[in-house]
Amino acid sequence: MKLTLSALLLSLSGMVHAALPEQALHPDEVRFVTANAEFTLMHEMGHLLISELKLPVLGREEDAADQLGFMGLFLLHERQSDANFYAKLLDVADYWRLEWQRQTPDAPEIHVWDSHALDAQRFFNLACLAYGSDPKNLEWIIQMTGLPDERAFYCPEEYQQVEYAVNWIRQHFTRKRNQPEGHRLRVEYQPPPHHLEGATELLEKVRASGELEAIAERTSSTFALPRDLKLIVTSCGEADAWYNRNSGELTLCYERILYFRELAKKLPRLRQKSLEDAPSRH
Ligand SMILES: [Zn+2]
Repeated sequence: MKLTLSALLLSLSGMVHAALPEQALHPDEVRFVTANAEFTLMHEMGHLLISELKLPVLGREEDAADQLGFMGLFLLHERQSDANFYAKLLDVADYWRLEWQRQTPDAPEIHVWDSHALDAQRFFNLACLAYGSDPKNLEWIIQMTGLPDERAFYCPEEYQQVEYAVNWIRQHFTRKRNQPEGHRLRVEYQPPPHHLEGATELLEKVRASGELEAIAERTSSTFALPRDLKLIVTSCGEADAWYNRNSGELTLCYERILYFRELAKKLPRLRQKSLEDAPSRH
C-alpha cells in the first residue's frame, strides 16, 4: 500500500534507531522509545498539515492530530502485519497509560478543560484504533489493554473513519504532478547545552543519519506548502514538542526523546512477555 502520508513519513524509524545510545537499552526499550519519538513527530506533523494545508477539522484538533499521528505511524511501516509492528502501536498507547497511572506527588494536576484528551482517554483511543485496524487478528489487543467490550465493538468503525479521512486528505492535498515545487520544510539543529546528558550524542546521530532531512524533503515534494517551514531540533528545557503556526516552526525537543528513554525503563516486563507470545500474522 503506497500512501502519501506514509511516503512523507518513511524512514523516520531509522533515524530514531540511529539516534539512540542503544547499548544501554533492552531491545523492547529501544522499540518503545523509537515508536513514541515517531508518534510525537507524526502528531506534530498532523498539526503542521492541518494548519498549513488548511485541512478541515471537526472535533478537537488535538484528537485529529493524534489520529493523523497514529495513521502516520501505521503507514510508516510497510510491514503492517507482524507482531513487532503491533507491539510498536501498543508502545504508543502504553506511553499514555504510563502517564495516566504515574502516581507521584509531583504529578501535574489534571485539567478537564485542557485541549488534549485525558491521558487515560488517549491510551484507550489509541488502543481502540490499533485493535480496529485489524479486528479479526488483533483480538488479543483487547485483553492486553483492557479495552472494554462496549468500546471495542465500535473500534473497527472508528478505524475506518480515520482511514477514510486520511485517504480523503491524500486525494485532495497531494501536490499535482504538474504543480511546480515551491516552498520547503527545512531542518535546523540547535546544539544542546552541555549539561543535558545524552543529547549531544543524540544530535550527532540524528544529524549523521540525514533522516529528518529526508522527511522534510518528502513533505516539500508531496504537498504544495504555502510558505517555507522549519523543523527545529533543540533543547527546550522540558520534554516537549509543538508546532507554532505563527512562525511555521515544528519544534522537537531533545528532552522529549530522552524522557521516553527514562520511561522505557519502567515498562512492565510482564507486558513485554505477553507481546512476545502474541500471535503474529503473515
Ligand atoms: Zn498536539
